[in-house]
Amino acid sequence: MPNLRVTLLREQLAQSGGQAILVTNAVNRRYLSGFTGSSGVVLITADHAVLLTDFRYREQAPLQAQGFRVVEHGAEMNAAVAELLMEWKIDTLLFEDQDVTFAAYTVLGKKLPSVKLLPSQGIVEKLRMVKDDSELAIMQAAADLADKAFDHILGYIRPGVTEASIALELEVFMRSHGAASSSFETIVASGERSALPHGVASSRIIERDEFVKLDYGAYYQGYCSDITRTVVVGKPSDKHREIYEIVREAQQYALDHLVPGMTGKEGDALTRDIITRYGYGEYFGHGTGHGLGMEIHEAPRLSLTGNVVMTPGMTVTVEPGIYLPGFGGVRIEDDIVFTDTGIRILTHSPKQLIVLD
Ligand code: ZN
Ligand code: ZN
Repeated sequence: MPNLRVTLLREQLAQSGGQAILVTNAVNRRYLSGFTGSSGVVLITADHAVLLTDFRYREQAPLQAQGFRVVEHGAEMNAAVAELLMEWKIDTLLFEDQDVTFAAYTVLGKKLPSVKLLPSQGIVEKLRMVKDDSELAIMQAAADLADKAFDHILGYIRPGVTEASIALELEVFMRSHGAASSSFETIVASGERSALPHGVASSRIIERDEFVKLDYGAYYQGYCSDITRTVVVGKPSDKHREIYEIVREAQQYALDHLVPGMTGKEGDALTRDIITRYGYGEYFGHGTGHGLGMEIHEAPRLSLTGNVVMTPGMTVTVEPGIYLPGFGGVRIEDDIVFTDTGIRILTHSPKQLIVLD
């Protein structure tokens, strides 16, 4: 069965002028080969697709890496890579310059004195930006799991419980419903702490009349979901309501207007312009969204500097926020995928201001 991802990578390889590419990044290795082991590299040429790994994966690797020849390397993996390249008479090798350490680069250079090593940046990541139907089905399931967890946690949040216990409850719920883990360290930030955009859960006890901001996701079958909802425990003040409704309006406006063909920067402006118009621009200090998939943060980005043009199959978050130091903050985040004509929203948890008593 031809591996479409390998075929697409070969097209990129041909354009780059390299004869072979060594994929050392663990996520990229899994993306290309399906191999979930903890160690190994992928080597691709126009004619060869090889997964090199060690004896621990003697049985697992051939089962998972469809369309790959599996080579078991000895004590020195780079020696095995060098041997194959010599056998194939390769003289230019692309490597992933964001992943290969200087030490590994030096070893490769010594093992391959006649091979020209060419740094390459983000070749596989570029392919990973556009999800296929099988990936989107998994991401939808990961998003569904996050939605179910939100519904569950609403019954748990009350004055007197700690942020950490809310985070644990989310984790237990997601894992007992199929997630391998959380997709990142769960953020539960209450009261003044909700003004911290990335306030991971602390021992702080939830009080009355304050925000509780939850940002979490499920890591499911190799893919991430990522959702933020902000609720009020007790009675919301006018200020709570004001900034909540501005963030909600900005987020909804972006969901209504994001279309393929936009740049990341144009997507970012959809939320930023509204928050700025209400006078809170300086309190929205991060991008509108980020790509997500096998990693929680990946390309492309909806940000002030985002120059990637959105195309169907790209998955990003939409997560504007307002953070007022000393008071609190609001963020609302959904996961979306670009379609041929617009977007499809993956997360569906309610967004009207939820007040828990
Ligand atoms: Zn998030
Ligand atoms: Zn996010």
